[in-house]
Amino acid sequence: MLSSTLVCGAAMVGVATEAVTSPVGIALALTSSAFGLGVFVGCWAILRRSLRRLRTQQEDSSFTLALALDGIRVGAVVERHDSWPLDLDDAVTRLAREHGDLRRTIEHERLQSSFSRDLTEALELSDSESEVFATAGRAADMALSGRFHVICTDEEGDLSWEVTRGTPACACPKARNCPALRKGRTLEFHPGGGLARCAQLSSPETHAICVPVSAAGQTIAIAQSSWEGSGRDDLKALESLSTALGARLGVVRTLDEREQQASTDPLTGLANRRHMGSIGEELDEGTADYAVIACDLDHFKKLNDTWGHDCGDRCLKLFARVLSEVCRQADTPCRPGGEEFTVVLPESSAMNAVIVAERIRVRLAQAVRGSATPFTVSMGVAGREHGDTFENTLCLADAALYTAKESGRDRVSLYGSLEEVAA
Ligand code: GH3
Ligand code: MG
Ligand code: MG
Repeated sequence: MLSSTLVCGAAMVGVATEAVTSPVGIALALTSSAFGLGVFVGCWAILRRSLRRLRTQQEDSSFTLALALDGIRVGAVVERHDSWPLDLDDAVTRLAREHGDLRRTIEHERLQSSFSRDLTEALELSDSESEVFATAGRAADMALSGRFHVICTDEEGDLSWEVTRGTPACACPKARNCPALRKGRTLEFHPGGGLARCAQLSSPETHAICVPVSAAGQTIAIAQSSWEGSGRDDLKALESLSTALGARLGVVRTLDEREQQASTDPLTGLANRRHMGSIGEELDEGTADYAVIACDLDHFKKLNDTWGHDCGDRCLKLFARVLSEVCRQADTPCRPGGEEFTVVLPESSAMNAVIVAERIRVRLAQAVRGSATPFTVSMGVAGREHGDTFENTLCLADAALYTAKESGRDRVSLYGSLEEVAA
């Protein structure tokens, strides 16, 4: 076929000069051109038939794409050589082999993108950080062949292992000791891979890939895959996992922060009225005992008027600190507004709350002793045994507080008792 193309070409060159001088030359030129065109059309028909045969074997779109790409590549080879370099059957065989490789690559990438899609969907269903980490762990079980860890850094640079699949490759103590966290880019460490090896890796035989996890432009963790021996390729899957994990952690943290802001008093950091209301709803749904302490700072207007509003704010913060120190973990000190505070004590009787309230009063007295702006607090206590709802119990605690004020302030009053409890 190559030789016939050459003959045809030679004839065409020869005829080019003859054509201008004789009718025989013109005839010869036309014959040669027709012959060359015939060879070209023949080659094209064989190629098309071969392509059609291969296409009927596989009808999917990736196959067609692969063929198109291979066709372009073969075309490029032909153009480079300025002639057909191989026998057409060989070319088609090679094309089929290359197509096989390409098809495997496309299939691998299809699986990768389907994994990323599934992972994104699964993460969107995870509403808390712990759920997000659990989903990431399950995804790693499916997609990675090595051990998997997510190592998070906090504001102080301390590290915590939030996802653990197998023995960690390192026991890095601080964020500043982790090169991938410091550099904010993927690092891969091969056993015997030369000088540039992470000093934190526990074993010289370990192969580790460390991919930074970023949320809102900040590196907040490292996703790590590690193994001993050879033959694993976790990089791409680990990078997909790290990207999706960072994006979801960013969203969950933002939502948590908003939730926190919406339920916190900005001056003191205590729970606000809204948060107190939702605690009350939960308590109303249950049957366990609870008690509330209503607190009101004494003569606070006078303190403000005498020492200024900033001094008043500092006193409010000091009292919030006293409440936090005295209360148990289960109790919630709140600032519903102004110079009024409430403490909610789940699983507590009103009598027990009176003891806590008295402790608060004494601790405040200690905290302001010697201060230029000493102040006191009056408190009223009521419990589930008094009110039928949380809202109602709060009103009864307020009524007891009024009694404490009326009785001279700086004291605790229990709802229903004629005398204040302590003074
Ligand atoms: P009583 O002993 O009867 O409770 O007297 P009181 O002066 O504490 O009560 P009153 O209700 O008359 O005044 C409360 C004062 O608390 C008025 C207001 O200036 C002050 N206050 C309310 N919220 C804030 C705040 O956020 N910061 C400061 N500095 N003062 C506040
Ligand atoms: Mg008041
Ligand atoms: Mg007051």
